[in-house]
This record gives sequence, C-alpha cells and structure tokens, in this order.
Amino acid sequence: SADVEIVESLLREVPDFPQPGVLFRDVAGVLASGEGLAAATRAMADLASELGEFDLVAGMEARGFLFGAPLATHLGTGFIPVRKAGKLPPPVLAATYELEYGTATLELRDGTIPAGARVLVLDDILATGGTASAGADLVERAGGTVVGLAFLFEIPGLGGRDRLAGREVRSLIV
Ligand code: IMP
Repeated sequence: SADVEIVESLLREVPDFPQPGVLFRDVAGVLASGEGLAAATRAMADLASELGEFDLVAGMEARGFLFGAPLATHLGTGFIPVRKAGKLPPPVLAATYELEYGTATLELRDGTIPAGARVLVLDDILATGGTASAGADLVERAGGTVVGLAFLFEIPGLGGRDRLAGREVRSLIV
C-alpha cells in the first residue's frame, strides 16, 4: 500500500551499530515525519485487523511505546507498557529471556489487564523474537489473551518466527 511505501522509504540501515558487524535498522526517520508516523499508524491498524478484534495494545519499551500508543489512540483501545526491569512500581510480573550475551528482563504492571482482555502485542522490530516472546508471555500471565504480534519491520533469518511459533505474527516490512 501507499502507507507501507512511505514507511519503507523512511527506514534507514546503519552498519556496525551497536556493534561491529551488526546492521541496525533505524526507525527514527519514520517517527520524525508527520506523514511517516501517520502512515505507520494506519498501516499497523490495517495489519492488526488481520488478527481480529482486540481490546488493548501492549508495546515493549521503548519504540513499542512510540508506535503502540498512537495505534491505540487511532483504534480507541487502551495501551499497556511492557517496561525494562526496575521502572514500574509493584505489583509487577517479570519475564527474563536470553540475549546473545547475557539476559534481559521485562516487566508488566499486574492488575492492568482485565481477565480475558484481547491484546495485540506490538514492537518496532522483530529480530530473534526474545523481546516479543517475553512480552506476550507477560500479557498472558497478567490474564490477557494474545490475539497476535505485529511489527513494523522483521529481520529474517534470526529465528524470530520460530521463537514465536504457535502465535499469529504479522510484519509490515520483511
Ligand atoms: P529481539 O528480541 O532479538 O527480537 O530484538 C527486538 C528488540 O530489539 C526490539 O525491541 C527492537 O526495538 C530491538 N532491536 C533489535 N534489532 C534492532 C535494530 O536493528 N534496530 C532497532 N531496534 C532493534
């Protein structure tokens, strides 16, 4: 669609960041453009509609917030922030997952998802799937039902789809 083309035209690749040999996909240009942010929001709404109806959007810190909250506003749903460890006051649920080197922990404020609420989990980029998998697990442990996961950009070949096996996964751009 025209919206996807606008988003694609604003994505940049930055070689050797954050480490040598890594190709970083940069969404800053999408965020910095009024047309780009609106196009990304409409295109994500379109993509998410393939997953059926949902009551809430959950996004992972930090860029999952930046695209997730506009989507929630656009659709009239609430937004659930999945944060890095130590930012949220109790009660929180925590999920720790493996990184290439070490581990990371995400947290979700317990009691913010009504039992059985249908939740779309969103992030900017799907790479190995560790972040999204932990986010989806947290939503379920909090009592929500994950209708699926949506990403602006999917980096293929890093096992993200495998890590999310059994879940509905949609990416705007692969
Ligand atoms: P994963 O857990 O390996 O799937 O990595 C996804 C998470 O890391 C997301 O929260 C992304 O925002 C971030 N991330 C991974 N690769 C990139 C990249 O190339 N550019 C920007 N963010 C990235």
